[in-house]
Amino acid sequence: MSWGVENEQKRKDIKELLDVSERIMRANPNHVNEVSKSDSGCWMEQIYGMQRHDFCDLAPDCPIRREQEWQKYLKENNIVIEKKPD
Ligand SMILES: [Zn+2]
Repeated sequence: MSWGVENEQKRKDIKELLDVSERIMRANPNHVNEVSKSDSGCWMEQIYGMQRHDFCDLAPDCPIRREQEWQKYLKENNIVIEKKPD
């Protein structure tokens, strides 16, 4: 499992996330099935109501994280995408 537990802060954050998850599941064991889709399409936001896209490597297909990684990639490789005027 690649959880990226590379430092103390992240470890704390993950613990907090697990606590939140436990609380949600205790309140409603069917939460995952019943929760309505988030507007962003982010799984993390949908399940946990959290805007923690740095955790979205735990979840598949977060469009926000994908966008962030794409922008980071462009920056690191000095790629400039020219926006065509409409
Ligand atoms: Zn996300």
